[in-house]
Amino acid sequence: VKPRLSTNCIRIIIVLVISHIDEVRSVLAPVRHASRIIGFVPTMGALHAGHLRLIDEAAKTSDSVVVSIFVNPPQFTEQQDYQAYPRQIETDMALCRSHGVDVLFAPAIEEVYPQPNCAWIEVASVSEQLCGKFRPGHFRGVATVVMKLFQMVQPDRAYFGEKDAQQLSVIRRMVRDLNVPVAIVGVPTVRESDGLAISSRNARLSDTERAIAPALYRALQCAAQQIQAGTTSPEDVKRAAMAVLEAEPRIEVEYFEIVDPEEMQAVPVVRGTVRIAAAIRLGPVRLIDNILVSRPELNLIE
Ligand code: AMP
Repeated sequence: VKPRLSTNCIRIIIVLVISHIDEVRSVLAPVRHASRIIGFVPTMGALHAGHLRLIDEAAKTSDSVVVSIFVNPPQFTEQQDYQAYPRQIETDMALCRSHGVDVLFAPAIEEVYPQPNCAWIEVASVSEQLCGKFRPGHFRGVATVVMKLFQMVQPDRAYFGEKDAQQLSVIRRMVRDLNVPVAIVGVPTVRESDGLAISSRNARLSDTERAIAPALYRALQCAAQQIQAGTTSPEDVKRAAMAVLEAEPRIEVEYFEIVDPEEMQAVPVVRGTVRIAAAIRLGPVRLIDNILVSRPELNLIE
């Protein structure tokens, strides 16, 4: 792998597909040695426009781009969801090739989790709200695998989607608290034209469910409008947004919360910048989404 921004090197345009940890380290050693920036995009594969936005961002701001594909069993709380998770390595390789990825790292489960695996990362507080309440152990699985992948790839920067805002907060907190020398870059959510956040799980929606799914984003927007219009009571904001979701009987709301963007704790009153976050179940699929809303003028009034 040649450093991307080097003027005296020709970039390798074939993506290297690597499955062993020692190989990924030795392939990246010269890049690191040349003080070139390694950008890393961890994924579970089945790449879509959301992942590609992260990859494009990494390609713009790093010298070499590494993408990992690893479907991580400990972060799944339902075995059925893990089994049904889409796997399409050939298509993913082609997408990586056309988006300037240098290394596609797809480690085997045995390498990632030597048995028995006794070391786990728990990020208290920020992991315990929202999705953490409904998916016990999920963020422990996420934090552990991300830390493992950081040790394997040793990137300078790592790119995560704001679509999974709580995950992004958990990773930021883990990196801060454990003094991990990786800069975490958040990338905005990519949506379909009707507002539905792109997700690998959307493919499991029936046509009818797919037509209903954008109600989630409409509910978030409704909440944002309430806040921008001056509503400061989270209960009032939620009531208006829930009416949008309740108009769709097939939607089961798991949570709809207005939280502090760093701590992910429900706010008692809306002021400054808040994140509106929700999770719903629709048919066989659990969908999450969130938006950030700022009302800086409220700070000035108080
Ligand atoms: P996953 O493969 O679902 O684990 O996602 C890998 C990365 O892609 C995570 O950082 C996600 O937050 C990010 N991601 C997934 N969907 C989107 C999207 N629609 N927009 C932006 N980033 C996304």
